[in-house]
Amino acid sequence: MYSNSDQTTLPSVLVIAGFDPSGGAGLLADTKTIHANGGYACSVMSAITVQNTQGVQTVEAVESKLFGAQLKALAEDIQFDAIKIGMLASLEQVQVLSEFLAQNAKIPVVLDPVLVSSSGRKLLPDNALTSFIEDLMPKATLLTPNLPEVKTLLEQTKPSNHVNPEKLDISVDRLKWLKATNILIKGGHSTEDKAKDILFSELQTRPHSQTFCAPRLKVTHNHGTGCTLASAIATHLAYGKTLPLAIQHAKEYLHHTLQTADLNQPNYQSLPAGKTRHGSLNHFAN
Ligand code: PLP
Repeated sequence: MYSNSDQTTLPSVLVIAGFDPSGGAGLLADTKTIHANGGYACSVMSAITVQNTQGVQTVEAVESKLFGAQLKALAEDIQFDAIKIGMLASLEQVQVLSEFLAQNAKIPVVLDPVLVSSSGRKLLPDNALTSFIEDLMPKATLLTPNLPEVKTLLEQTKPSNHVNPEKLDISVDRLKWLKATNILIKGGHSTEDKAKDILFSELQTRPHSQTFCAPRLKVTHNHGTGCTLASAIATHLAYGKTLPLAIQHAKEYLHHTLQTADLNQPNYQSLPAGKTRHGSLNHFAN
C-alpha cells in the first residue's frame, strides 16, 4: 500500500503476540497489517489461544525459555526497524522481554497493553501487571491503551486514580504516573460522536497533546482493531516516519479495513463472518 521508494529492503517489524486461530487478532492480524502497510513481519509467539468469533476458550502461555529463545534467534540474525508488542501471557515473559528491550534500546517499540480480550477473557495474568507497568512501559516508544486499559493501568499504579472509561480527557498529571514516554489513548469506548484518539507526547519532560479524529463507524467486524492499529503504527515508524505521521497513516488504514470488512459493502467481497459476525477486519482491502 505504501511504497518504499528510498530503500531497497522492506523495513522489518518484530511482532510479539499471541496466536488467535480465527485470524482476527494477535499474530495473524499483526502480520497481515504489517505486510499490507509495506513492511516485513517476523513474529514471536507468546501464547496459543483457542478461540473463534464467539470468544476465547483457552489460553496456553508459551514457556518463557522458548519465548526467549525465539527472541534471541531472531535478534542475532535480523536487524529490526520496529517492534510491536501485543498479548503477553506470563510474568516470566514480561521479564524476559524487558531484558530484551534493554539490550535493543534503539529500536522503536509500540506496546499495546492487551489485558483482556474484547469478549471479556483475561489475557495478561494479574501477577504480571506490576512488572508490565514498571519494567516494560518505560521502555516503549508508544503505549496504545484503550480507555478501559488506561483505567486498569492507572488504578494499579495509584488506587485513588479513578478514570471514567467513557471520557477521554485524562489530565497529564495523572498520566505521568504511568512512566511512559508517549501514550496514544484510543477513544473507541468513549461516548464521543467521532472515533477520537489523543496522543500525549513527551509526558515525563515536555508534555503536549494532539488529537486524531476519524468518522465513527458502526460495524460488527471489529475483532483485532487494537492489534491492527498498533501494528500499522509500528510499520510506519519502521519507515522512519514521525510518531504523529505514523499514527495518522495507521488510523487511515484502520478506518479503511473496518469500513470494508462489514457485510454487504458495495465493491468488496465479505469476509467469513462466523456465527457472531464479530469477525476480522479487511486487512488487504486495497
Ligand atoms: N491478541 C490476542 C492473541 C487475542 O486473542 C486478542 C483478543 O482476543 C487480542 C490480542 C486483542 O484483540 P482486540 O484488538 O480485538 O482487543
